[in-house]
Amino acid sequence: MPDRSYLVEGARLAAPAAAPGLHIVATPIGNLGDITLRALRVLAGADHVAAEDTRHTGRLLAHFGIEVPLMRYDEHRAAAQRPKILAALEEGRSVALVSDAGTPLISDPGFRLVAEVRAAGHTVHAVPGPSAVVAALSVAGLPTDAFFFAGFLPPKSAARRGRIAALAAVPGTLAFYEAPHRLAATLADLSDVLGDRPAAVARELTKRYETVETGTLPELAARYADDDTKGEIVVLVGPPGDTVADEDAARDLLVEALRTMPTGAAAAEVAKRTGLNRRDLYTLAIALKNDRS
Ligand code: SAM
Repeated sequence: MPDRSYLVEGARLAAPAAAPGLHIVATPIGNLGDITLRALRVLAGADHVAAEDTRHTGRLLAHFGIEVPLMRYDEHRAAAQRPKILAALEEGRSVALVSDAGTPLISDPGFRLVAEVRAAGHTVHAVPGPSAVVAALSVAGLPTDAFFFAGFLPPKSAARRGRIAALAAVPGTLAFYEAPHRLAATLADLSDVLGDRPAAVARELTKRYETVETGTLPELAARYADDDTKGEIVVLVGPPGDTVADEDAARDLLVEALRTMPTGAAAAEVAKRTGLNRRDLYTLAIALKNDRS
């Protein structure tokens, strides 16, 4: 019988048995403080935890004082493991699926499992929490009303450029995951294919060396060209309308905003509405004010 409890800041708390079915449990993308109380209760209360990497997840569970039988569910063993998980659910058990970090299924294994579990008539419970793409969107200052998560781009440049071109007309912010050793090449291709769009490189989110660099794609491509960047990275690219080609529209918005706001606030407001660079808009606002006087 597993010890259904977990540790939070030195306090050991009892976990109720998790409801029968498959629980899709998000885990931190760096900062362990981002685990949710519900995630801890479900992980401690589940009959089994299916993990992409059992050693990695074992360390997470040990940190929170959780003892629960672990089974591996990664790309290689997925097909062999699915019938075992389905059999456990058939017996009325609870299984929690976790990946190494963030939300399972988001550029991580689990999609086929969820489809099969649903098809077999079992309940799939969402236990939401961190995901790098949402964390990046929340801090980059690019439009978030519509976004397209494109996962990892192909590693080879020709295929990568083709994929980027296929995404060029998507009317929303584009979001990519990228490995650090490919960042410079990817930014160069994004810049060549998409031109002067606003963009952001979000690195090591929630961790000690978190950085979020913003600028146009050519600026970021130049900044990272000779950089041996390390860590985990999300690249965001603003929508097609938010390019320098839209300067006329931005100019009109600025003229309007400058009627009622000081220069800095007007630039910030138009930056928020268009996704264009605030400093560029500030310079334009100063020029417009000088023209007027
Ligand atoms: N399922 C995860 C999620 O919900 O974010 C993503 C898994 S995917 C295999 C791993 C990629 O996510 C990394 O290569 C990186 O691009 C991105 N990533 C994960 N953690 C990150 C972090 N702390 N900061 C920036 N990007 C991160």
